[in-house]
Amino acid sequence: MACPARPTVKTGTLHAGNMESIVLFGPPGAGKGTQAQRIMESTGLPQISTGDMLRASVAAGTQTGIEAKKFMDAGQLVPDEVIIALIRERLLEDDASNGVMFDGFPRTIPQAEALSRITKVSHVIAIEVPDERIVERICGRYTCGDCSAVYHDTFNPTAVEGVCDVCGSSNFKRRADDNEDTVLSRLGAYHQQTSPLADWYDNQGIFHRINGDRAIDEITEDILSALD
Ligand SMILES: [Zn+2]
Repeated sequence: MACPARPTVKTGTLHAGNMESIVLFGPPGAGKGTQAQRIMESTGLPQISTGDMLRASVAAGTQTGIEAKKFMDAGQLVPDEVIIALIRERLLEDDASNGVMFDGFPRTIPQAEALSRITKVSHVIAIEVPDERIVERICGRYTCGDCSAVYHDTFNPTAVEGVCDVCGSSNFKRRADDNEDTVLSRLGAYHQQTSPLADWYDNQGIFHRINGDRAIDEITEDILSALD
């Protein structure tokens, strides 16, 4: 018996196409930026950073931007409903019709719940690197004060100690907030914030832990196979 033809359903405002979004987690220093770039190239999903979006909407003077600016000027956190309104507007743009990749959002369970009402999150990718490895990566960094070349005590030292490979300068800089205590406290805050969210997404069976303490290509491969 032939099946009756499926009636054509007009999709409303959002969810044109089969929009499925990705959420990317990773502590500072875990190489999230590099992987985000690669995920974008492979999936075609645009990257959404709510911080950038906020600044752009304020600069453009959109209605939501004006609303957000009131809170920012008062030194207050921009409320979730304003952020969600921004994301909602962003999801209506053409390049978001297949979904987007969120970076730095959500940070709380209420935000994750609100997000689930405006887009289907199909995968949450968490790039995980042991804290002590991140400390190692970040704390050994230094840059040439003259040409901005980046070095690392252990992983990428200058060929001749104290002399920049690129420009020959001996004027090196280390960032004050790259010391071990500061990095550990940033990581502590990150874990405290993300662990309830990790559980929340894990319960939905969409949470993927990716070992980020490996070669960049191997990490990308794992992420892309998790997204498959
Ligand atoms: Zn230099």
